[in-house]
Amino acid sequence: LTSSGAVKVEIHNLNSDQPILLAKPKKANESKIILAGHIDVVQGEASQFSPLIKKGKIFGRGSFDMKGPLSALILAFVNLSKKENNLPLTLFISSDEEIGGWQGTNFALRKKLLNGKVAILPDGGEKFSIISQQKGPLRLEIIFKGISAHAAEPEKGTNPIIKLFSFFSDIEKAKILEGNGREWQTTIVPAKIISTNSLNQIPEQVSLIFDVRLTKPKETDKKLTLLLKLGQKHSATIKISKVDGLIFKVSPENIFIKSWLRSTSQIAHKRPSFIKNATSSDGRFFALKKIPTIITCPKGGNRHADKEWVDLKSLEKFRLIVEDFITKKMDL
Ligand SMILES: [Zn+2]
Repeated sequence: LTSSGAVKVEIHNLNSDQPILLAKPKKANESKIILAGHIDVVQGEASQFSPLIKKGKIFGRGSFDMKGPLSALILAFVNLSKKENNLPLTLFISSDEEIGGWQGTNFALRKKLLNGKVAILPDGGEKFSIISQQKGPLRLEIIFKGISAHAAEPEKGTNPIIKLFSFFSDIEKAKILEGNGREWQTTIVPAKIISTNSLNQIPEQVSLIFDVRLTKPKETDKKLTLLLKLGQKHSATIKISKVDGLIFKVSPENIFIKSWLRSTSQIAHKRPSFIKNATSSDGRFFALKKIPTIITCPKGGNRHADKEWVDLKSLEKFRLIVEDFITKKMDL
C-alpha cells in the first residue's frame, strides 16, 4: 500500500493480537465508501498454507475467505487512488473476524475510526450473489448450582447434573432445539457442557452452553424467550451477553445495492441473486451503525474446509466491479 505512493495508512492496536489497518487516498478528507476485509483465517493443515495454482484456481487456506477477495479490493483501492488522490474511500482491514470481529470492525466503528455511507465486504455468498440476511450469533450459558460432596456419599450433596437433565427434557418437549434446514428460523443448539469437579465428586455447578443463531431481535424471538423461561423455571442462572445477537439485513431496494447489481450485470454478465445466509459476518456491526453493506464474493468454494479455492478470472472480474461501482458512486 505505501509503495504505491498514492495512499496514507494508519494502523491501530499494533501491539495487540488483533491490529486493524485503515488506508485512504492521500488527499482524501472524507469517507463515503468503505472497502472492508479481514486477513485472519480459520485453522488449517500446514500444507494449506502453501498456495497452489491449478487450472485457473488458487487453492489454500484463506484463498476464498478472504485473502483472495481482499487482494482484489486492495488493488481496486490503489488503482482508483492513483487516478484521483481525494476520493472518499477507506480501505479497512481487520484481523479478528473469524473469532468474532469485536476488536476489529466493532472497535473501529464504535470508536468512529471507521465511517461511511456504504460498505463493500466480500466475505459471504458465492459467484456474485448478494447476502440479504445473516443470522445473529449469540452464546447463552445456563448454569445449574448444586452442593458438592464425595461421589461415594451422594446423599450429602445435590447434583446439578440431575437438574440439568430435567431442564433438558423440558426443552426437548418444547421443541425449540435446532432447525429443520428448510425454513429461515432461529436455531438453538446445545454446544458444550462444562463442570469443574473431579470424577469422584458431585459437582458444585454445571453449565450448559447454547449456540443460538437468531433471525429476529433477541427481545422478540419466540424460541429464545421460551428457552429463557424454562431456565428460570428450573432456577438456573442465565448468562447472556448484551451485545451479542446482532442480525445483518440489507434491502434489495437500497440504492447502493441496485447500483452494485448494475455494475455486476455489466461486468460479470449475470444478474446476482439474493441469498439468506445462516452464518454471520462483520456485516452485523455495519448493520448496527445503519451502514448498508454489500456482502458478496467472486467464484470460489470450500470456505473453512479442505481444498479452499478461488477462481482467478472471477477475482479479476470482482476487482472490475468494485472499480466500476466506486467510479459511478463518486458523487454520493
Ligand atoms: Zn471471512
